[in-house]
Amino acid sequence: MIIFGTRGVTFGGHAGEFNCPRCGWSRQPYQHKTVRRFFTLYFIPVIPLDKLGEYVRCMTCGGTYETSILTFDPQAENDRLRSEFAQHVRCLMVLMAIIEGDPSRAKIEALRRISQSLSGAEMTPADVEREIALARKGDLDVSGYARERLSNVTDIGKETVVRAVLSVAQADGELSAREETEIADLVRALGMTTAHYRGILAEIEEERESLAHEQDEWEESD
Ligand SMILES: [Zn+2]
Repeated sequence: MIIFGTRGVTFGGHAGEFNCPRCGWSRQPYQHKTVRRFFTLYFIPVIPLDKLGEYVRCMTCGGTYETSILTFDPQAENDRLRSEFAQHVRCLMVLMAIIEGDPSRAKIEALRRISQSLSGAEMTPADVEREIALARKGDLDVSGYARERLSNVTDIGKETVVRAVLSVAQADGELSAREETEIADLVRALGMTTAHYRGILAEIEEERESLAHEQDEWEESD
């Protein structure tokens, strides 16, 4: 009796180093593996058939990954996400700044300062004008934009968004009724809890008070 069949045989291919997710994205040695189907005779693979698949195996933790992991650069991906997020927050701040017509100088200054601290790049007056023109042309308001572009940010991200938008709205004084409604809508659109939002407001209030207190002490010591 002749026993024949097919079976997958794994081959070790080229090796090198890659960023392994399971090893905390550190550089680790890998081996590129290929699985090929073989025609077997008496359980011995004799004729190579089609390729069944390929994968990358971390030699340190044994984790296996799709081969596209080899070209994935976590640092570049991180930078890309960060700059995308900064851009979204910038758009939201601009949308907030213009809800009651032309933004005040204080609002523009707040938006430039926060935008720069988030992206690391200066926001020039020309940038501000361009962003305002774009925001006026678009058909999204603050909460609509957040719902569309920022639906899956982390809690820390949500807090950054709300704090940035609040800072712009409060740059020239207390919130107007319109601004309050807009921010309440934004909080809902982001899926942030009311408790979290109240916590942020309380913190801002505290920061303001301690700042005012420091200034008082300054003046007294003069
Ligand atoms: Zn690993």
